[in-house]
Amino acid sequence: MTSFFQLFSTQNYIPHGVCLLWQPGLLWLDVLSDTIIAASYFTIPFALIYFASRRHDLAFRGIFILSGGFILACGTTHVMGVVTLWYPAYWTDGLIKLITALVSIGTAFAMWQVMPLALALPSTTQLERTNGLLEHEIGERQRAAAALHDANAELERRVSERTAELELEVTQRRRTENTLRASEERWRSMFDSSAIGIALTDENQRFVTANGAFQRMLGYTSEELCSLGPVEITHEDDRQATQDMIDQMQADRGFGYDVEKRYRRKDGTVVWARVSTARPPDPNGGLGGVPNIIEDITERRRAEDAMHEARDALLRVARLNTMGELSASIAHEINQPLGAIVANGQACLRLLARPTADVEEAREAVVEMINDGRRASEVLKRVRTLGKNASPERKPLDINNVIGEVLALTGQELRTYGVSVQPELNDNLPLVQADRVQVQQVVLNLVMNAIEAMRETDNRRRTLSVKSRCGEFQDVIVTVADNGSGLDATNIEHIFDAFFTTKAEGMGMGLSICNSIVRAHGGRLSAAAGAPQGAVFCFNLPAVREAGL
Ligand code: ADP
Repeated sequence: MTSFFQLFSTQNYIPHGVCLLWQPGLLWLDVLSDTIIAASYFTIPFALIYFASRRHDLAFRGIFILSGGFILACGTTHVMGVVTLWYPAYWTDGLIKLITALVSIGTAFAMWQVMPLALALPSTTQLERTNGLLEHEIGERQRAAAALHDANAELERRVSERTAELELEVTQRRRTENTLRASEERWRSMFDSSAIGIALTDENQRFVTANGAFQRMLGYTSEELCSLGPVEITHEDDRQATQDMIDQMQADRGFGYDVEKRYRRKDGTVVWARVSTARPPDPNGGLGGVPNIIEDITERRRAEDAMHEARDALLRVARLNTMGELSASIAHEINQPLGAIVANGQACLRLLARPTADVEEAREAVVEMINDGRRASEVLKRVRTLGKNASPERKPLDINNVIGEVLALTGQELRTYGVSVQPELNDNLPLVQADRVQVQQVVLNLVMNAIEAMRETDNRRRTLSVKSRCGEFQDVIVTVADNGSGLDATNIEHIFDAFFTTKAEGMGMGLSICNSIVRAHGGRLSAAAGAPQGAVFCFNLPAVREAGL
């Protein structure tokens, strides 16, 4: 213990100032220098510790601490340098130097040890460059992030737009669905409650569905109808035509048909119907099936038949009426040859009663008698065809023949009223497809009307012009013109109306019947005022088409 304290004893040593001969200048130089060095050395460790404490990311913190300790120890040796000038505590000084040496060795060792790591630390330039690169990269990333943000915003905008569109679409689709449902319900109720028959047929010509009206019309249930097709329930006489129309419709997609035909009811009775089919739907889409609208027209047909019968009866009456008017003329036409026959017969008797019978002249008289007999028989034949109640029959007809017959029948009438006839008949006319009796009636009516119109005029020569010629549309045109009382504009509008007449005893049916006859033959009857007087009636009839044309 004693020897330990002896270490710090100053008794056996002389102060260091002795070596400096206590020269004040030298002493104070040492004191000042060592004090400043010590003060500086003591400051540096604090600066290092302060720096290390503030920089948490500091690398090699231990080196900093060791260096601080080393510098502190160095500072202490300088303090001891000042102390030993006056107090020779050389052991203490030596110990402090030892500590300083140990700390400096440790510091040096630690420094060399961390040297590779310290060298590996990037320099400021490198760090600046890296920093620059990083800043560039950060800039890029920020730009990319901004672009991403923009893209995101755009995407969100589009998503919200599309969402709005989709919502709108959904709303519209819902509305459309509701409309469709309502429409379907409407159609379904129309289909079920319709008084008109409605049925759908598929591509195999089977009924798919049929409404109540159609079932009632034919007496079949819906199930029965679905096992049948339109051809099977059609009246036997209309089946082929129906099949042809269906074939045509299937071959020629896009066209439906609209016909009047007969069905055979389940109980065997006949139903007349007007059937219209809509265009067949697109086979690649749509509902499939052809909609058929079937209207029961049996009653209308019955009424039409009754009307036709009434019209035919009227036609007959009108003909008989005309014949009544013509009776004097007909009687004259027959009387004339009969008178001639009697006269020739008497002449013949006289010629044969002569002592030398003049056989030659008697023979001539007999030939004339035969000719007159034939003339009378011709007249009767014409009268018979006119009064005949035969059903209309259209055959190829030479219109000039008909005109000749009518003029022959009305010959006496024309002569009685001093009418001169000017026929201009084209010999090269094509034949017309027509009913002889009906065409006769048309010409006869026009000629009789002309005679009656001319009967009212006395101040001019009565002239009847009858012409036949070829029309422009493969037809034959007949014109009957007179210079009688004429037609005024008001009359022209009504002369074809039934029961229109300006005559005291007229029926007003003649022209109406003529008009319907001509129309039924596919022609047209027209009337116009004559120039300078009278009336002109004109009708055309289609010519028979020659084979190959
Ligand atoms: P009706 O001879 O019984 O009167 P029509 O139908 O034949 O019936 O003729 C209708 C009307 O047309 C006649 O009343 C007459 O006024 C007029 N009409 C017909 N033909 C002629 C004609 N050639 N000239 C003048 N008027 C005519």
